Formats: sequence, structure tokens, C-alpha cells
Amino acid sequence: VAKREGRNQYALYRPELSEQLLHRVKLANLLRSALEQHELSLALQPKIGMDGRQIVGAEALLRWDTAAFGRVPPDVFIPIAEELGLIVPIGHWLVREAATLLDDWHARGWPLTLAINLSARQLHDEALLPVLCESMQRSGASPAALELEVTESILLADADFARARLQALRDAGFRIALDDFGTGYSSLGYLKDLPLDRVKIDRSFISDLEQSPRGRALLSSIAGLCRALSLQTTAEGVETAAQLTLVEAEGIDEVQGYFYYPPLTVEAFNQLLESKLGAQDAPGANG
Ligand code: C2E
Ligand code: MG
Ligand code: MG
Ligand code: MG
Repeated sequence: VAKREGRNQYALYRPELSEQLLHRVKLANLLRSALEQHELSLALQPKIGMDGRQIVGAEALLRWDTAAFGRVPPDVFIPIAEELGLIVPIGHWLVREAATLLDDWHARGWPLTLAINLSARQLHDEALLPVLCESMQRSGASPAALELEVTESILLADADFARARLQALRDAGFRIALDDFGTGYSSLGYLKDLPLDRVKIDRSFISDLEQSPRGRALLSSIAGLCRALSLQTTAEGVETAAQLTLVEAEGIDEVQGYFYYPPLTVEAFNQLLESKLGAQDAPGANG
């Protein structure tokens, strides 16, 4: 450690670094069998529509529970899954789960939408669109009920390619949301060029609203810009009543955050909806 500044070779042998690497290698090996071991699951974070303050859907967030290390956070295992290409089969599984959930909700008469996250690696997957279409067809849910969240990082490698892929997904009826908006580079240009339905304003813009007049001015400008471009807006990470009031005053369409609900298990989410909406007959269902 002492000679770290001197030569790169020494840095490689820093004990804490090799420990980190070893942990990553262990996680990578476990991740290869996570799907077949049924260690992956979905958490659902309710999305609240500001018209009527009702739950209008959920975002599906991956969870990985390991025997060796307990729950591993998505910020840790998703980059590994991307590096190993495992995000592709995991993504296919997730799409099928998503379609099943939508089918179940719609059969109960709940008109909910579901959002899933897609990384750059998944956009390059030739099978993504067919898997999406087949899953939705089998479940009978409309593609419009599934929203695909991407971040600006998908544009880093090949922006034209990413734009074309998003367009194809949107042409197939899926909704596209730009996630973590405001955290990447030159976000404004993306708003002009990308085929988008929704912008999710990153929680870093929400967390300091109460203390920061500049933060409020920024949120207000983003909201105005999205309105002018006919883009729906979601505020991420709303944690307090004061933040909710400020967000609502800006005409934001949807809110997600701990103030309402954290990510829930599928069971807890369904119980919540049952208590709110009850069991209704599916529209148009016979008997
Ligand atoms: P994200 O898509 O921006 O998801 C929102 C994250 O914010 C979630 O963290 C959620 O638990 C957290 N969050 C929600 N409300 C609040 C709040 O009020 N305050 C705070 N402080 N945090 C809040 P999570 O579940 O740890 O996921 C982290 C990231 O991992 C996600 O960010 C997403 O980029 C990625 N991720 C999760 N699931 C998937 C997936 O299936 N595929 C891909 N490619 N990425 C995923
Ligand atoms: Mg997201
Ligand atoms: Mg986000
Ligand atoms: Mg995020």
C-alpha cells in the first residue's frame, strides 16, 4: 500500500483490492447459476399517479438472494451480469415474469402498468424484441402496459444503433422511459432525438428540493421542457411530504419513492392492491 504511488504493479497487490476482486470472482461464479437456483426475484415499487393519487403500476427491480452472502444489491450484481453476458438470459426471464404479472393483474381487473429496466447490453440482444413480443402475446397483455426503462448510458457506444433499437421496440407498442434523467451527459439532446414516452427525473433532483431554490428552478425547467415535448414525467425518490408537494406543484405525472412505498415483494404488492382495489371482474370477461 505504501508504494502505491510509485509503480502500478504494487497497486495490483494491495490486499484490499485483491479481496474485492476475489469477492467479485466469487459473485460472478454464483451468478452463473442464480437463475436455475431460483435465487433471483422481483421487487415491485408502486408508481403513484398524481391524478387521483392512485397506484397506477409498478417498477420491477431485480433482487438476488445468495446462500453465501445474503442479499447482493443490484448495483453490485448487475454490472457483473452485464460483463458476463448473463444479463441477457436474466432479462428474458424477467420479461416472462413481467408478462405473467401483467396478465394476472389484468385478470383481476387491475389496469396497472409495469416498468422494467434494460441495460445497453440487452438492447444489443437480437432475441429481446421477439421474447418481448412472444411473452406479451402469450399473456394477452398489451405491449402498451409494459414500459422499458433505459438510461442515457445506452447511447455511449453507438447512439444511432441504440436509437434504432428503441424505435423498433416503440413501434412494437412498448413504452420507453428515460431513467435517471439528468445524471448523464448532454441530456437535452437526448430528449430531442430519442423515441421516448416518459422521463424519470433522477432522485438527485428531488432530494434537495426543500433546501435549494436552484434545485426547485431546475425541476421546474425539466418539467416544463417535458411538457413542451409531450413527454410524461416521473419523479424518482420522493421521500417526504414537502418533496411531494413541490413535485405536484410542477405538474409531474407520476411519483415513486419511500414517501409512498419502498420496493415490495410481489405478494405484498398484490395484497396492497387487493386492499385498495379489491377483486374486480376483468373487463369483458365472461362468467
Ligand atoms: P433505478 O432503475 O433507478 O431504480 C430505482 C432505485 O431507487 C431502486 O434501487 C429503488 O429501490 C431506489 N429507490 C426507490 N425509491 C427511493 C427513495 O425514495 N429513496 C431512495 N434513496 N431510493 C429509492 P435498487 O432496487 O437498489 O436498484 C438500483 C438500480 O439497479 C436501479 O436503479 C437499476 O438501474 C438497476 N436495476 C434494478 N433491477 C434491474 C433490472 O432488472 N435490470 C437492469 N438492467 N437494471 C436493474
Ligand atoms: Mg429504473
Ligand atoms: Mg431510476
Ligand atoms: Mg438508478
